Amino acid sequence: MTLTLVHLYPREMNIYGDTGNVLVLRRRLGWRGIDAQVVPVAVGDALPHDVDILLGGGGQDAAQGDIGADFASRGAQLRAMADDGVVMLAICGTYQMLGHEFVTQEGRSIPGVGVLDVVTRGQSERLIGNNFVDTPAAGRLVGYENHSGLTELGSGATPLGTTQTGRGNNGRDRTEGAVRGNVIGTYLHGPVLAKSPRFADDLIRRALARRGESTDLEPLDDTLAERAAVVAAGRPR
Ligand code: GLN
Repeated sequence: MTLTLVHLYPREMNIYGDTGNVLVLRRRLGWRGIDAQVVPVAVGDALPHDVDILLGGGGQDAAQGDIGADFASRGAQLRAMADDGVVMLAICGTYQMLGHEFVTQEGRSIPGVGVLDVVTRGQSERLIGNNFVDTPAAGRLVGYENHSGLTELGSGATPLGTTQTGRGNNGRDRTEGAVRGNVIGTYLHGPVLAKSPRFADDLIRRALARRGESTDLEPLDDTLAERAAVVAAGRPR
């Protein structure tokens, strides 16, 4: 079996190494004997028809502006993919652009595609630092955040979890990230999947379930990742 992983804007939207999420998934699939075809999608490239997991990383306001028109042009296809249960992991800047709009701290409006019912507004203070998030679906996620955007969730979005040590979506309501079906947005860089193996396997199970395949994954020895997560979660903000 081969799963198709789409990596959105790998050049522009990888400001904090979120490409590592693609590597973690490909490796954890391979260790279970499942091949992964990774398809980078740059400005102007067509999205493949059959996608199992779509991933996008973080980016500076300018980079988000640079890809904004191309990203918005994919809105109908991305919404259809989300409705069809395609798994999506969107980090920070891509998370913001899966929402309705990201207004930068300078007041520039970058349209989103409305896959997630969230709206983000930038401000002068940046939300920066180590963070861990407790989630009902995948346990504790460990990473760090660095964003100016404050994200508010609408009724169509559910928080991914609650932030324990960081600022999360907006530094006010303790929520972090947003979920709608198999679409997950989060501010956690890291790459987040490297120290959150349960989260990585949750995404894989969602993709296998959508294909009607068994979601019984062979357990892996995640001792090192789990020990790293404990150390990272104990780091000062
Ligand atoms: N440019 C956006 C912000 O500052 C996203 C930052 C990021 O992706 N790390 O909020």
